[in-house]
Amino acid sequence: MNKYDAIIIGSGIGGLATALMLSQQGRKVLLLEKNKFLGGRLSSFKRDGFNVDLGVHVISRSDKGPIGEVLRRVGIANPISYTTVRPLSSYHGKTFIFPRDLKDMVSEADFNALTTIMKDINLMSEEQVKSYDDVDLKTFLLSYTKDPLILACFCNISTIYVCLPTWLTSAGEFMRCLRMEAQARSSGYPEGGCAVITNTYAEGVRRFGGEIKSGVRVDKIEVEDGKVSGVVAGDQVYKADVVISNGDIRSTVLALAGSEYFPKDYVDYVRGLQYSWSGPVVRVALDKKVTDIKMLTQFGTTDQEGYYEKMANGIMPEELNLFVVIPTNFSPSVGPEGKQLVCIASPMPLGTPKTILEQMTEGMIETARKYIPNLRDDALWTNTMTVDQLDKMVGESGAGIGIGQRPGQCGDKRPGIKTPLEGLYIVGAEAGGTGVGTELAVNSAMEFIDKHSPFSGRK
Ligand SMILES: Cc1cc2nc3c(=O)[nH]c(=O)nc-3n(C[C@H](O)[C@H](O)[C@H](O)COP(=O)(O)OP(=O)(O)OC[C@H]3O[C@@H](n4cnc5c(N)ncnc54)[C@H](O)[C@@H]3O)c2cc1C
Repeated sequence: MNKYDAIIIGSGIGGLATALMLSQQGRKVLLLEKNKFLGGRLSSFKRDGFNVDLGVHVISRSDKGPIGEVLRRVGIANPISYTTVRPLSSYHGKTFIFPRDLKDMVSEADFNALTTIMKDINLMSEEQVKSYDDVDLKTFLLSYTKDPLILACFCNISTIYVCLPTWLTSAGEFMRCLRMEAQARSSGYPEGGCAVITNTYAEGVRRFGGEIKSGVRVDKIEVEDGKVSGVVAGDQVYKADVVISNGDIRSTVLALAGSEYFPKDYVDYVRGLQYSWSGPVVRVALDKKVTDIKMLTQFGTTDQEGYYEKMANGIMPEELNLFVVIPTNFSPSVGPEGKQLVCIASPMPLGTPKTILEQMTEGMIETARKYIPNLRDDALWTNTMTVDQLDKMVGESGAGIGIGQRPGQCGDKRPGIKTPLEGLYIVGAEAGGTGVGTELAVNSAMEFIDKHSPFSGRK
């Protein structure tokens, strides 16, 4: 029977980054992915000549961030070219640049407060930022201003950064995301679509001798004498003293390994962890070029708490919160010449009533038509990914990011990468790390290598 140095469960970007760094160190690595495709939430599929991303992806710091850092660490000259994109904000059909244009939209005192918020966030020491890990972002903002438009703009940004509204977002974690992005000033989209990142990492793993098997679901993590000894997938057993799960922390601990191998307080802690929010993604392929918009965020009311409360009570808001990306406008190879691809996401809590979910595709298209009126007339096809479908594909109840970056779940209180079961580690947007979505997951992988890996550097 083949024995590996490490087995990685799941090919999300956190799992691939870990596999890439370990295989470059000369470790014998096996990565098992249950889906036939690689990348988890960072994957794409092809339809009628379009490369469609599973999510609506902007990489917060493109190659200046952890995605580029991992490639530099393993010595792969960065083959990914990014187009820098800055989203426009939009309220009620009026488009503007945050924070600059709010000068003419709020009182002078509130605009000064906004300037102070941005300055304070950027100038705080790491220790000061950390002291806000357990404070929610809304409480932090209210200590500067009560202006509804400013508060709604931040809510819009926090749902994009961490897929949670301000009242559920850790202020400390939000500050880290904002500071990193502000310093790098390079938010971007990979030419050819997001799967380019996934494919580059996967090719790297193989080039360093790592093995990747897709379409193989891990059913069980084996434990012998209180230590991890391998995994079972169907009728196959793969042996390793180190198993690194990139899957859901709850399933990993409670189902794949089994709660009996962990202290009770850890099991209770894992059971109590809360995911980020989620939301459907609507993709519309257009027969011709109808818009110059590249990326736009939209909200229709400044009463964001009221907006989500309405949804929870089964009432469809008139205008939906949207994140609209038109990748063909900055990465032409994503679609056939002369055609456009419009991707629209709308954040919402997990457990939103079915009556609302059923109306989302129509509601999202109708709101987006404020900016792209021809969205229906020139559509070649429309495709919706529901939260349920996302859950079936990549798990975690269909959460957008992973374990929510909320007070009590960030910084020192983020779930640990090293679990109490010897040999079992968790990487990705489920444990450790900091930052926006994909960068959170890759930072977690680098944290594993730097602080928790049982292997010491290159073999
Ligand atoms: C709609 C949407 C839009 C997004 N937009 C952005 C964005 O613009 N910018 C950004 O940075 N981030 C964005 N994100 C978030 C980002 O994609 C995720 O946070 C990140 O990709 C998570 O990576 P991960 O390493 O945690 O792995 P995941 O992507 O969660 O992948 C985990 C993998 O493990 C596999 N797996 C699980 N269990 C098993 C098992 N038992 N056996 C084998 N395999 C298993 C799964 O199939 C999956 O492939 C978005 C997410 C969504 C859903």
